[in-house]
Amino acid sequence: MNVLVEGCAVATVDASGSEYASGHVLVEDGLITSVGPGPAPRRPENVIDGTGCLATPGLVNTHHHLYQHATRGHAQQQHLFGWLVELYPTWGRLDADLVHATTGAGLAALALSGCTTSTDHHYVFPRDGGDVFGAQVDAARAIGLRFHPCRGSMDLGVSQGGLPPDNIVETTEGALTATAEAIELFHDPSFGSMLRVAVAPCSPFSVTEDLMREAAVLARHYGVRLHTHLAETVEEEEFCRERFACTPVEYAERLGWLGPDVWFAHTVHLDGESVAALGATGTGVAHCPSSNARLGAGIAPVRDLLDAGAPVGLGVDGAASQETGQLAPELRQALYFARLRGGPAAMTARQALELGTAGGARCLGRQDELGSLEPGKLGDVALWRLDGIGHAGIADPVAALVFGPPAPLEALLVGGNPVVREGRLLTADETALARELTRVSGRLRERPA
Ligand SMILES: [Zn+2]
Repeated sequence: MNVLVEGCAVATVDASGSEYASGHVLVEDGLITSVGPGPAPRRPENVIDGTGCLATPGLVNTHHHLYQHATRGHAQQQHLFGWLVELYPTWGRLDADLVHATTGAGLAALALSGCTTSTDHHYVFPRDGGDVFGAQVDAARAIGLRFHPCRGSMDLGVSQGGLPPDNIVETTEGALTATAEAIELFHDPSFGSMLRVAVAPCSPFSVTEDLMREAAVLARHYGVRLHTHLAETVEEEEFCRERFACTPVEYAERLGWLGPDVWFAHTVHLDGESVAALGATGTGVAHCPSSNARLGAGIAPVRDLLDAGAPVGLGVDGAASQETGQLAPELRQALYFARLRGGPAAMTARQALELGTAGGARCLGRQDELGSLEPGKLGDVALWRLDGIGHAGIADPVAALVFGPPAPLEALLVGGNPVVREGRLLTADETALARELTRVSGRLRERPA
């Protein structure tokens, strides 16, 4: 689709940080063909008036568990392990119907907060739950965001010294077979892909060493990316030291899990050597500040990771530990968190925007396609309205977006296709999505027969 956004401020987030006080973004056949100051070289039929708005690259969400939209507001005072133990039995009753509803609602919430590409990390596959992965893919296609479902897995139940109950873990072999099947069925490696699958065993305390090792071999065989939770809490670090006699990053290294095709969620608890190892290997990090705050996990050393050269993106994380389900507010959270740790010079508004766009694209290995507004990249654009009461009078539009309240979304384009206009989702009925979310959340709260 051809569409022109004109008359808006533009923050390209390209390598030199090019910005225009009044400019345009032209998308033709799904690709950006012109970005710059003033009017565009051509005017297609579809023109969006961007007066009073800021155009940025669409945001990239590098970590999520969409199914958790059905368990928001549970376990409100717990740290990670207590929260997991309280929620596992409930999650053990999810099925394809629930995952379809939560994926639709969760991706809608992301779209409405400026996100054009999202991952999901799904690791609960009950034996009688039906085709959970297929249901996700189906729901995501309807919403119209680029989708990176990470086929998760757990094979270390409580009887083997793990954290999850035995009845919600898979066998090592079963998890690997199902992961390979998901890649064969759905992964599209082509330029402009709408769907890429990643291999994502859940965490050190829910997955065996065998599964971690074999998962890395499997991912590299197919040329897909690797994702897992790592170094999220003090308790996880203690678990690693007791069980493996090393830090979480040393454990990952031992299993073949450092490299430019890997990105970890959280990495809150890292020593200097761990930071250096992630930087030296180009291993990415999904920074999830709100979720880390909700669970009292701590503050990730993002400034240190960036200085070491590690790709850092932003993640919403599951809605059971980040009930907003929105990505745009994480820009401000990331900035605040970096400053709480390192003072006011630790992160600028532009660096926060870079985490949410170009940084996320690097985590997903899509820096040639996504993350900045440049000719030749995909036409994924967020257009934020900044002339309302929330932002009026702030002369710097990037500061308005990052420091200010959540900005109304004037438009969201994915490959030039409009997904949001004037704050409303165009690809699905928001009321119906909310009704479905209420239904499946209620069903999950009911006691099993
Ligand atoms: Zn997570």
